[in-house]
Amino acid sequence: MKYWTLFSWSFVVCLFASAWAFAQPNVKEMTRLNPQMGRPLDIDDARADALGLRKISGTYLTMYTDIPSREDIDELVAVFDAAVPQWCRLFGINPGKARHWSLVAFLMRDREKFRQAGMLPDDLPKFPTGYNRGYHFWVVEQPGNYYTRHLVLHEGTHAFMQWFLGGSGPAWYSEGMAEKLALHRWENARLELNARLTHADQCEYWGRPKVIRDAVARKQTMRLDQVFDLSAISFYDAESYAWAWAACEFLSGHPFTTEEYRKLPKHAAVTTAAFSAKFKSWFEKEWWAQIERDWQTFLSELTYGTTADRTTILPAVCELRDGYEVATIFADRNWQISTILVQKGDEVRISASGQFIVMQVDPQRPLGRQDFQGDRGERALPIVGDEAADTPPAEDSADSARISIPCEANGVSLRYYQGQRVGMLMAAILNEDYQLSSPIPIGTEATLIANADGAVVFRINESPAELHDNSGKLEVKFVK
Ligand SMILES: [Zn+2]
Repeated sequence: MKYWTLFSWSFVVCLFASAWAFAQPNVKEMTRLNPQMGRPLDIDDARADALGLRKISGTYLTMYTDIPSREDIDELVAVFDAAVPQWCRLFGINPGKARHWSLVAFLMRDREKFRQAGMLPDDLPKFPTGYNRGYHFWVVEQPGNYYTRHLVLHEGTHAFMQWFLGGSGPAWYSEGMAEKLALHRWENARLELNARLTHADQCEYWGRPKVIRDAVARKQTMRLDQVFDLSAISFYDAESYAWAWAACEFLSGHPFTTEEYRKLPKHAAVTTAAFSAKFKSWFEKEWWAQIERDWQTFLSELTYGTTADRTTILPAVCELRDGYEVATIFADRNWQISTILVQKGDEVRISASGQFIVMQVDPQRPLGRQDFQGDRGERALPIVGDEAADTPPAEDSADSARISIPCEANGVSLRYYQGQRVGMLMAAILNEDYQLSSPIPIGTEATLIANADGAVVFRINESPAELHDNSGKLEVKFVK
């Protein structure tokens, strides 16, 4: 056999060997998409199989795992496939651009098997739960039926940002966005990324709001500026994820920052402090001070489903009518600032009138534990008492599938929040430093004895996470 023939045959054999033995993304197209990403690992499927690693292939993801076949594990590839068009939409990427994008993931119970299979290179950092690099990501199996899937979407978000945005910004933005977008619903093979989840049961073992609540209780909250300064290394500590997530949740929803926050993906290739400095430069110094104050208010009421637009303290609509100050207080907003200024000890006679909707319930859904308690586990009560009898549920014409619960300023005994009936009109005093005094129940009529100096503020009593389904308003009249 001539020398060249021998050479060309061995070349053909090599080609076949690589086609059969290795699972490889389309490197040529992927390199065109982002030339910075290096090359994928060479994976030997026969070796993986011998070590008991299963291979599951989808459109955008090939996954190797040592976890025995189970529906919630085997469907993770389909979850990832469903996420890709949503990442495209959330980051403004033309879906056609992702046509050839494909990653390889390793879902691990026993890391040693992956090391033996050549899937866990020695130069990877010692990550506790997940890590992403180039063509690959690694996820460690988690307890419960939510959190492993969350981590797959978290690492997938990192990967998407790096491939399509050229980076994922500094640590707070990178981890905060991965956490925020990975919050999801997966029901009947339908995925909703970036979901507003309203109860811990919907995202078992995730637990970020509790981390923030504990910090609020210890009076050790971070300023936004401090979150921006979190180093990548600090993310070995789970607490940093909670701060980064909360910052992204707040900045994406606060009325002052929403528009600017939407511009950040265009700057994600900047991974240094210049990224955050740029973001801050879009705001006047005084505005930023206000944003920092609203951030603290947001943290103080953060729970599942809280959004920044519902925690912001806003001015109330006030007018003088027949010689009395009258403030209009909306049922779906947080504290609203009246024009009445008081000094500690002042007495103000207040009356409130009007009917509003305090919650909507789905009559098809059996009532659950969450219907009878606040998110922080306040008093749990069944539907009893005068208000429930006085105010029968009325059908909401806008959405006949749900039943609206009407309410007046005394609230309903259907549910309690911070020790008071939900829907009860509450007052507090907001001082010059933007500190709120402890809330005072008002109801339909009361004499407020000011417990601080400042402006009188009002809201109806309910967790800001539950305000989204409220509507209507109250008129609050003052006699000083
Ligand atoms: Zn991450």
